[in-house]
Amino acid sequence: MAPTVRGTTRVYGILGDPVAHSLSPAMQNAAFAAAGIDAVYVPFPVSADGLAATIAGLHAAGIAGLNVTVPHKEAAAALAVTLRPRARACGAVNTLIRTARGFVGDNTDGAGLLAALAERRFDPRGRSVLLIGAGGSARSVAHAFARAGAARLIVANRTPARAEELVASLRRRGTLATDLTVLADPDVLGNLDLIVNCTSTGLASGTLPTVRFAHTRRQLLCCDLMYGKPSRFLAAARAAGRPAIDGSGMLLHQGALAFTLWTGKPAPLAVMRRALTRS
Ligand code: NDP
Repeated sequence: MAPTVRGTTRVYGILGDPVAHSLSPAMQNAAFAAAGIDAVYVPFPVSADGLAATIAGLHAAGIAGLNVTVPHKEAAAALAVTLRPRARACGAVNTLIRTARGFVGDNTDGAGLLAALAERRFDPRGRSVLLIGAGGSARSVAHAFARAGAARLIVANRTPARAEELVASLRRRGTLATDLTVLADPDVLGNLDLIVNCTSTGLASGTLPTVRFAHTRRQLLCCDLMYGKPSRFLAAARAAGRPAIDGSGMLLHQGALAFTLWTGKPAPLAVMRRALTRS
């Protein structure tokens, strides 16, 4: 049911390019309704050129809070008045919280993925994890795995310099930056507990090199951050008999954490999950 908009209704939203595919509006509007909060959540398609003016303008217009998605997470971090520690650590923002001076930046992506993995009974402590990608979401996820005590963290990226920069920011032993040739390396693949595809290959043109699943353990868990579209990476993992999950669990939990940051209330998880399933 469409929310009723009154003079008192607070407005939240999501900035991205593209943003039309986002399920966050369905999920957050259902959450506001279930929690009895007079608020609406709308998508704002914004180009990179217009990001700074949009964030300043939306603050001036009284917007109560924002999510930020592809490709603006790193640029938005530079536009926040201050950053919460986990956003500062990874240099990327997915949630902006209104204050009188401007928007404060936080990042719930990494914690959202850990919550989704916990539902699958996957605890990163002491585990060996390969992240493919070094963009905004990979940065948040890498720092979350480091905080959660992963023993080995490998970041593989098309542009290796970005992987190196991300690994340097972790300031931790047991980390390695590399390029995508690792996806065929039996020595690396054979010791992994989890692979997370953090690239935008499903949204943009281009595909990942094939992962040689034959070299991996049978119980290797495979996760793609993308949701709502078929993932070639997950299809190949499933074809090889490896357990596989898409990004819908992460979407749910990062959104639930953002909801609580904005409202100070616990998120109605079951309602949000139902809204995602319906969408
Ligand atoms: P960014 O634009 O910040 O990063 C994109 C990454 O993908 C970079 O590492 C880039 O490599 C890599 N990449 C892009 N095209 C190719 C290609 N053709 N071959 C190999 N690598 C490529 O995006 P985000 O990190 O913000 O988002 C990544 C994905 O995660 C998206 O699909 C997004 O929808 C999803 N996501 C899902 C969330 C959820 O809640 N489930 C939350 C956040 C993101 P390079 O550095 O070489 O350019």
